[in-house]
Amino acid sequence: MSKKSYDVIIIGSGPGGYVCAIRCAQLGLKTACIEKSDTLGGTCLNVGCIPSKALLQASEKYDEANNHLGAMGINISGIKLDLKAMMGHKNNVVDANTKGVEYLFRKNKIDWLKGEASLTKKGAVKIGDALYKADHVVIATGSDVIGLPGIKIDGKKIVSSTGALDLAKVPKSMVVIGGGYIGLEMGCVWRRLGTDVTIVEFLDRILPGMDGEVSKDMLRILKKQGMKFKLGTKVTQAKSVRTGVSLTLEPAKGGATETLNTEILLVAVGRKPYTDALNLDEAGVMRDERGRIKVSGKFETSVKGIYAIGDVIAGPMLAHKAEDEGVVLAEMLAGQTGHINYNLIPGVVYTHPEAAQIGKTEEQLKEEGTPYKIGKFPFTANGRARAMNATDGFVKILAHEKTDRVLGCHILGPEAGTLIAEVVAVMEFGGSAEDIARTCHAHPTLEEAIKEAALAVDGRPIHI
Ligand code: FAD
Ligand code: NAD
Repeated sequence: MSKKSYDVIIIGSGPGGYVCAIRCAQLGLKTACIEKSDTLGGTCLNVGCIPSKALLQASEKYDEANNHLGAMGINISGIKLDLKAMMGHKNNVVDANTKGVEYLFRKNKIDWLKGEASLTKKGAVKIGDALYKADHVVIATGSDVIGLPGIKIDGKKIVSSTGALDLAKVPKSMVVIGGGYIGLEMGCVWRRLGTDVTIVEFLDRILPGMDGEVSKDMLRILKKQGMKFKLGTKVTQAKSVRTGVSLTLEPAKGGATETLNTEILLVAVGRKPYTDALNLDEAGVMRDERGRIKVSGKFETSVKGIYAIGDVIAGPMLAHKAEDEGVVLAEMLAGQTGHINYNLIPGVVYTHPEAAQIGKTEEQLKEEGTPYKIGKFPFTANGRARAMNATDGFVKILAHEKTDRVLGCHILGPEAGTLIAEVVAVMEFGGSAEDIARTCHAHPTLEEAIKEAALAVDGRPIHI
């Protein structure tokens, strides 16, 4: 049994773990990161954010060429989908990103310890027979797919997001269980490539965490694009049949069942913290009722010197939240102070149009009794959106009725994920709708819709 010592050992190399490792190394801490997969980067780089965005980007271009460029006078004939090449593009993007993290590890002199880590009773870290000691151990082991009772994900006909990112041919039909982030994004990819996609959602709305108006309009737009929805519906059985999967559906509130057949079934009903093999109980690391590792405000677990960040703890399961926690924790371990504003973590759904949010939804403000004003501006009235033929959606700004401070912003529209950054920065500085309204925005840009929504908070938009 060898024994090697570090200042910090991080278990898991996703955006939480690898960013924490880089920041620790920058701050002069001797750092190692343990990863059990063959590549670095975790869910995000290998089977999450990056490959899904590569396919969303590529399938959107295919859809544009097929259905939208004609309206701009560009007539292309003989458009053919080469799915193998599209998957090749996705794999190249993943490869470049994961190799990029390997390079950053070498550059920052971070040791990549390969293998599956577990904790010992005394808080040391084990990989097989090898034992490692560190002043600080960081658990950043991420999350895994939530399954549904009686529905076995076989990776062929019944897939999770990982399988849906790697289908060998375009299926004729796909049923997606879950109208959240993954259901809508992966549903859009395959719908654009020619699949008949039906989303089955338990609730009577899609995107449950988002502002109600965004969710309602997104539903209307996706239906217009050809996606089918069965809301307020649950899947009670999924049987493998020769042609695919036979599903039994039942209204969520009870009632008559129906049968639906599909070639591919995608299960996308959420993710759960992943702590298998860590030996948490013996090490004394406590979890909450949802299996998330309990941490203090300084990310310390119930065991002194052991910390946790990212999807494995409470909060939104988003890469940028994990990254920011990684940076803040590294700075705290190096004796500095760090802070994350959990009210200001943006959420973006990369469909077309995109949906982006920051701060409070209108429903949340109502529920907490905060007085608010609304400013809304539609992309139909934005010159650049018209030029792009991308006029679906709107910008909605929620500001405090008395102080005018921005409390939330919800954008459904082209480039919403990029546009939201302006409002995040304003909110981080405690800015008001008037601050946005008085800021000069270049013309003609999509950003002008944000300025107009801010003007609309005070009832004085120019272009509507
Ligand atoms: P992870 O990225 O899950 O990394 C954990 C790592 O730990 C893994 O590499 C795992 O192999 C390793 N590990 C686990 N146990 C051990 C062990 N015992 N020993 C050694 N290694 C171990 N978020 C966004 O913000 N934007 C997006 O667009 C987005 N798209 C997504 C699309 C999909 C299809 C999915 C599934 C997720 C998406 N997410 C997105 C969510 C994002 O991927 C996660 O929030 C993020 O990866 C969490 O980072 P993490 O570092 O906590 O964990
Ligand atoms: P999700 O929580 O976003 O959506 C799950 C959906 O499934 C919800 O609408 C929920 O009501 C529904 N649902 C739950 N049980 C159901 C059932 N039995 N039958 C029918 N519907 C059911 O989860 P997800 O889409 O699996 O994604 C997991 C997480 O990964 C997300 O929460 C997000 O944090 C992250 N993610 C982020 C992005 C992004 O940032 N663009 C993209 C993909 C994934």
